[in-house]
Amino acid sequence: MHNKTIAELSAGLKDKQFSSEELTRAFIERAKQFDPKLNSFITLTEDLALEQARQADQRIQAGDNTPLTGIPIAQKDIFCTKDVKTSCGSKMLDNFYSPYDAAVVEQLNNTGMVLLGKTNMDEFAMGSSNETSFYGPVKNPWDLNTVPGGSSGGSAAAVAARIAPIATGTDTGGSIRQPAALCGITGMKPTYGRVSRYGMIAFASSLDQAGPLAQSAEDAAMLLNAMAGFDTRDSTSTELAVPDYQSTLNADINGLKIGIPKEYFGDGLDAGVQSAIEEALKEYEKLGAQLVDIELPNSALSVPTYYVVAPAECSSNLSRFDGVRFGYRCENPLDLEDLYKRSRGEGFGPEVKRRIMIGAYALSAGYYDAYYIKAQKIRRLISEDFKEAFKKVDVIMGPTTPTTAFNIGEKTDDPITMYLSDVYTIAVNLAGLPGMSIPAGFSENKPVGLQLIGNYFEEAKLLNVAHQYQLNTDWHRQIPGEFK
Ligand code: GLN
Repeated sequence: MHNKTIAELSAGLKDKQFSSEELTRAFIERAKQFDPKLNSFITLTEDLALEQARQADQRIQAGDNTPLTGIPIAQKDIFCTKDVKTSCGSKMLDNFYSPYDAAVVEQLNNTGMVLLGKTNMDEFAMGSSNETSFYGPVKNPWDLNTVPGGSSGGSAAAVAARIAPIATGTDTGGSIRQPAALCGITGMKPTYGRVSRYGMIAFASSLDQAGPLAQSAEDAAMLLNAMAGFDTRDSTSTELAVPDYQSTLNADINGLKIGIPKEYFGDGLDAGVQSAIEEALKEYEKLGAQLVDIELPNSALSVPTYYVVAPAECSSNLSRFDGVRFGYRCENPLDLEDLYKRSRGEGFGPEVKRRIMIGAYALSAGYYDAYYIKAQKIRRLISEDFKEAFKKVDVIMGPTTPTTAFNIGEKTDDPITMYLSDVYTIAVNLAGLPGMSIPAGFSENKPVGLQLIGNYFEEAKLLNVAHQYQLNTDWHRQIPGEFK
């Protein structure tokens, strides 16, 4: 069962080929067998999963089911789950049990999905390799010496190894698309505002967005159907009807105009990645698409802009972790100041501290205009570049990442090089656009991801364009040898 997409599992449940309980047991067994190699889960929720599976079977029996009822899912440990630990990959929240469910969790529970567990992630979603987690690094199932990408590395590795048939992630600067690319799976970051951020632990609130990490575009469409929607509890959530993302997957893409940004094919792009991407673009031409050269002139400014905006917002968001209200508290504080200093000093890891310090600096009097205001102005220019491009083309394509999965430890001493892993993904968050990564072949036996960028709220088009490629290729069907 583990090598089936959720679309196939859903059909199997409907036809009573297996029950949700059988399906759930099969994935729990796989998690027990394989996860010690990968470290993709922080918490496995075996008992809860079996209980939810039995309830799902009753719903299916009673005909009160949705296409997702009874399908197991792994949730990134950034989503608050009532009664199940929510650590956000941090010692700071190692003892945190949320009193409520995040909107995404609530919505997926309502459909009758089964929670397999909470996946490992970079601490507070800050990272590109899953090495900043308090719970240790996650391994890439394609090569256990390499990183799965981050920050949703646990979710991506679990889906790639078919320990979970599907998972959730969040993407602030690339954290769904980059690990999807490095692990050879399909990931989507929806338009900012499409999915509620209520109950999703905030990193950089103007950039954070949740989305699916899946085996295929069809599966991502099924999950997005249940994740998307307006929520009054998130003031940036958009009041816009949610289309049925599955119903347009088969639309004809003949005549589709694909923008190829020259800035995404310059220095720093690995030759093996480039040739896989070029092959994928040829496949699209065979499907009737037309490639159009475009320019995104401010691309080079996206990483520096992000590393002002994201730390500024995180320094504010993370000020709530003070050792008083919830989370980690140091032992025997001498006084209030000592309590703050030591709780934060001991509870946060080095990358989180680095970001908080950069952010506090950029926001401080005297530097605010020079850094934060300037970054916001450049952010606007980056959005304008995309606006211009979408006057000429329907979607934009290029590599998701400049290289394939790198070795564990290879970039940990060099934050700037690490930050450059997101050089092609970050601008999409700054502009608030939807983006996807789909498997597009291999370079030296490591997966390569093709990035698709769409105009605002055009998730349906991206999923359609991705699905048409997947009908004609089988990269998304590949499973790493040890996990077949
Ligand atoms: N790698 C980027 C960072 O470290 C993006 C992370 C994310 O999207 N959550 O901030």
